[in-house]
Amino acid sequence: MNVAGSWMVGAPVVTGGRAHQVLNPATGRPVAGYASAAPADVDTAVAAARASMPGWAGATPAQRSAVLAALARLAGEHAEHLVAEEVSQTGKPVRLAAEFDVPGSLDNIDFFAGAARHLEGKASAEYSAEHTSSIRREAVGVVATITPWNYPLQMAVWKVLPALAAGCTVVIKPSELTPLTTLTLARLATEAGLPDGVFNVVTGAGPDVGAALAGHSGVDMVTFTGSTAVGRTVMAAAAAHGHRVQLELGGKAPFVVFDDADLDAAIPGAVAAALINTGQDCTAATRAIVAADLYDDFVAGVAEVMGKVVVGDPGDPDTDLGPLISTAHRAKVAGMVARAPSQGGRIVTGGAAPERPGCFYLPTLIAGVGEQSEVYRDEIFGPVLTVRACTDDDDALRQANDTAYGLAASAWTRDVYRAERAAREIKAGCVWINDHIPIISEMPHGGVGASGFGKDMSDYSLEEYLTVKHVMSDITGVADKAWHRTVFTKR
Ligand code: NAD
Repeated sequence: MNVAGSWMVGAPVVTGGRAHQVLNPATGRPVAGYASAAPADVDTAVAAARASMPGWAGATPAQRSAVLAALARLAGEHAEHLVAEEVSQTGKPVRLAAEFDVPGSLDNIDFFAGAARHLEGKASAEYSAEHTSSIRREAVGVVATITPWNYPLQMAVWKVLPALAAGCTVVIKPSELTPLTTLTLARLATEAGLPDGVFNVVTGAGPDVGAALAGHSGVDMVTFTGSTAVGRTVMAAAAAHGHRVQLELGGKAPFVVFDDADLDAAIPGAVAAALINTGQDCTAATRAIVAADLYDDFVAGVAEVMGKVVVGDPGDPDTDLGPLISTAHRAKVAGMVARAPSQGGRIVTGGAAPERPGCFYLPTLIAGVGEQSEVYRDEIFGPVLTVRACTDDDDALRQANDTAYGLAASAWTRDVYRAERAAREIKAGCVWINDHIPIISEMPHGGVGASGFGKDMSDYSLEEYLTVKHVMSDITGVADKAWHRTVFTKR
């Protein structure tokens, strides 16, 4: 492992670029300091990844799998440490970190340790009478990865592990707000036996370190998770070199409640799906679209459940909702909610910050939002659910698709035909039926439209980091090949 810049718990340390502090958003207090990578550090990290590429790509799948399996074991032994780091740098409730972020990440590492040994390809065969054709699956090369702050460990694992399993080497830049668990993951990978230079971390801010990495001529691929606006900048930087790109971007997930839905399931389902990670989840339910007959009961039910949610210290296992990531982000969320009433929305519950230090914001339900209103169209990324009524199934699905985003969606119904129609017609990378949020290592995650393209998790994500090479071998030994006559006549 190479770490560009350095960090030390408790105090900022400057070795190269600017000093950064990791702040606990629940308290505003620093939890760690580190130095940003300087431009030369990015070059050094890319060079290290390039130099280690032949060795790692040339290892057998079994050898790569053994190292990744050792990482899965070690990370499991350090699960408590990973939970504590994730809670302190993101402010997420300890229950979420301990029951979702960390076990999900461990399972993903484990999955890719196995997947390293299962490369798919078409059968080697004689597709022409004169040749044997075979497929080679080869590592793309050096992968530049840029990740966000909302699920720092999971996002790092989703990008780095399939790349390593495929035989690629990696330079990752975690969010400047939350680098700690990515650094721990890299250290554990070294301890697990990953050769030097295979997994490199550069720390620092997006516009300098991130941009330098995304536009680096020495990488072969750029994979990014973050906002749509930055994703497009990253894509443009990579396009200048013609590099492969994978983008996991923003979302504005619809939560469609048909008129036969079980409200006892849909109401708590909506609250959980809207409030997970304080709504800072790209798949979070943000637009409830509810059959007119159920609308009043749904709004009253969601408001009642939201009103009982415990907002507080993320370290307390009884806490349901932690703070937003920063004061700047809370100001953005609060501004969007404050403008909603002038655009037709009615704030049913929440709509304010609680009286306590830290970047907290109350669970918020906004009913009757206009179709053109900002809270309905733009990503809020906070604990805010909007609700609109729909007149019939056509109207429900039209509203669901009335967005530039296409990451995730859910449909709530007891009618199998309606469920199948929703699954078919909603434009999104994932459609849940009678649930919203669960993910699983074996299944892919990724969007369409403004939510990006390509997949994380599952065998589909392994494909992102592999190339397909066709090898075609003459099996006749005949020098005078019949097809040559198509090109020139032998005289
Ligand atoms: P962001 O786009 O602001 O930042 C993401 C990363 O990009 C960070 O590491 C940041 O430092 C870096 N960055 C910023 N400017 C850059 C530049 N000019 N060049 C290169 N890198 C740059 O996103 P965020 O605020 O950290 O995260 C929230 C966003 O991430 C939301 O839009 C959310 O929907 C999205 N997200 C998507 C998924 C998904 O799977 N689709 C998952 C998690 C988060």
